Amino acid sequence: MTPTLTAGQRALIENELRAREHALEAELRTLAEQAGASNDSRTALASHLLNDDPEAAREHPDDRAVLLARADQLRQEQAEIGNALIALREGRLGACSACGEAIAFDRLKAQPMAPRCLRCQTAFEAA
Ligand SMILES: [Zn+2]
Repeated sequence: MTPTLTAGQRALIENELRAREHALEAELRTLAEQAGASNDSRTALASHLLNDDPEAAREHPDDRAVLLARADQLRQEQAEIGNALIALREGRLGACSACGEAIAFDRLKAQPMAPRCLRCQTAFEAA
């Protein structure tokens, strides 16, 4: 069955997703500054962080590892948000991936990327 979100509910979820997207971008920019990047574009940050820089790695081995891990995590979250926005636009967001029933709106609002309804998530975590 298809999820039945109203236009207002979709707008609320879209706002939530956009707010998260902006927060992620801001954090990536901070990471770029910490990593000494002069360009704040995401692509530049990625190549900067992934660029093998032995000298920087020797100077700040832990910082660099932490930054890389965090940047990976942020990019992963950005991809999830992007997918959620597409699903929202196509009217697919809000369907439980396990049972296909609509995920409760309150749950969706708190966790727009939640893949399962509460019942299926509880069963999933117990398994
Ligand atoms: Zn379910």
